[in-house]
Amino acid sequence: MNHCPRCTGPLGHQPARSRTTTARNIPICTPCGHHEADCDARQLPPIPPGEWPVTSAER
Ligand SMILES: [Zn+2]
Repeated sequence: MNHCPRCTGPLGHQPARSRTTTARNIPICTPCGHHEADCDARQLPPIPPGEWPVTSAER
């Protein structure tokens, strides 16, 4: 089982792609993908990979 580099949780079977990179080549778990989409929808900057791993308690 691979782990999500963003939250260290399980990646799951259908990882999302982080939008923090233009290439979107970083696989992240579905909840993280949703969180980034949520940030994007609110016009907030996504958490950069340099600040990973994040926890839901921090955000
Ligand atoms: Zn994650």
